[in-house]
Amino acid sequence: MFALIDGNSFFASCERVFRPDLWRKPVIVLSNNDGCVIARSEEAKKAGIPMGAPFFKISGLVERHGIAAFSCNYELYADLSARMMACVASLAPALEVYSIDEAFADFSGITDASALGVKIRHRVMRWIGIPACVGIGASKTLAKFSNHLAKRNPRFSGVCNWLDLTETERLQWMRSTSVFDLWGIGRKLGEKLLEQRIRTVFDLYGADPALMRRRHSVTVERIVHELHGIPCLELEEISPAQRQVLRSRSFAEEVSDIGEIKAAVSRHAHSAAAALRRWNGLASCVGVMIRTNRFKAERHFGWDVTSLPAPSSDTLVLSAAATRLAGRIFRPGMKYKKAGVVLLELVDANTRTGDLFNPGDSERSRALMQTIDSINSRYGGEAVKSAAELVGTKWHTRRERLSPRYTTRWDELRRVDAGTTNTGFKEPVSPRRPDFSPPRSESATRA
Ligand SMILES: [Mg+2]
Repeated sequence: MFALIDGNSFFASCERVFRPDLWRKPVIVLSNNDGCVIARSEEAKKAGIPMGAPFFKISGLVERHGIAAFSCNYELYADLSARMMACVASLAPALEVYSIDEAFADFSGITDASALGVKIRHRVMRWIGIPACVGIGASKTLAKFSNHLAKRNPRFSGVCNWLDLTETERLQWMRSTSVFDLWGIGRKLGEKLLEQRIRTVFDLYGADPALMRRRHSVTVERIVHELHGIPCLELEEISPAQRQVLRSRSFAEEVSDIGEIKAAVSRHAHSAAAALRRWNGLASCVGVMIRTNRFKAERHFGWDVTSLPAPSSDTLVLSAAATRLAGRIFRPGMKYKKAGVVLLELVDANTRTGDLFNPGDSERSRALMQTIDSINSRYGGEAVKSAAELVGTKWHTRRERLSPRYTTRWDELRRVDAGTTNTGFKEPVSPRRPDFSPPRSESATRA
């Protein structure tokens, strides 16, 4: 038996954790450079804000409904996600962190799965301040589907256990849900299924698995089996070895100066190298991408890869290789909008075979990197950076509506003064948060 725990409107919920005045108010979060809507609270959905809408197009709606709009605060979301997963892990026997706001848990052998679901939901709310829904089923697909139902139907109070539903209820829910809403069915596959008159989850449930395999793929066959409660996917507690580390961002303004391009590339190389060292990896190749605005007539997409003499996780080595590549692919006169760095051919530093002629990173380099990492973890990710990154500001990402990094920076802690706070808003007289009380007893079940 599996459970899927999923934070509701996760980014928007994170913004509310330290802003009780925003509970029950519409909140949206914007993509890089405050471009498009990437997360909406329930209230924002009701106000008619479409997912992916460009911010400038909805500014009227935002004004009219008093919607709070935020720049993407990656630091805050990543930290609250880690806390949420640790909180779920304190109750679930085994966990697979599936995305920033979702985790599968192994519920096999648990006598009262619904009660445990309720308990997890309450603990995540009480300890982290994030509302979450729990879906429970005999397979991962059914757990995911139950979570989908829990999120959309208040009658489940946030926890839907497929095993508790009657056969009639199950068929009803499957008939009333589009096949596009099913986990693993993307737009292309969904359209192919539509051609064969498979419109709802129920239609797929009733399909012949062997036929689905012949017409589509083994993945679709597996989904049919999983809908019948036959688990085909296991819990993956350890994610498969990472194959690449990618860092890319679009610029606040167009950049035509090679110095600024190199500054951006150097920043990405630094951040990617730090991530690489966190899981004790080494990169054998470095790739760099730069591109102009894709909607303009004069376009350029530059991309090149180079292999290193020996696998490395040294920021200076990786960033030197990346900036060299940037210089090679850069075309003078073009206005660039985005740059990215990717580290490829990754190997585990512990299991790498030594090379007599290319020993790789020296002891000295490892000590230097360790020092940089500890300073940056103590004083914030960019406390130590390369001088190259000081060139220009156009390549910086625009985040004009950024909230404080409440949980990871001492100087951005939430301050509570009498009446006002560091975010400059007036504290409401009695901020109301929903549903903070724990279940009445350890064995509480869903009403
Ligand atoms: Mg979610």
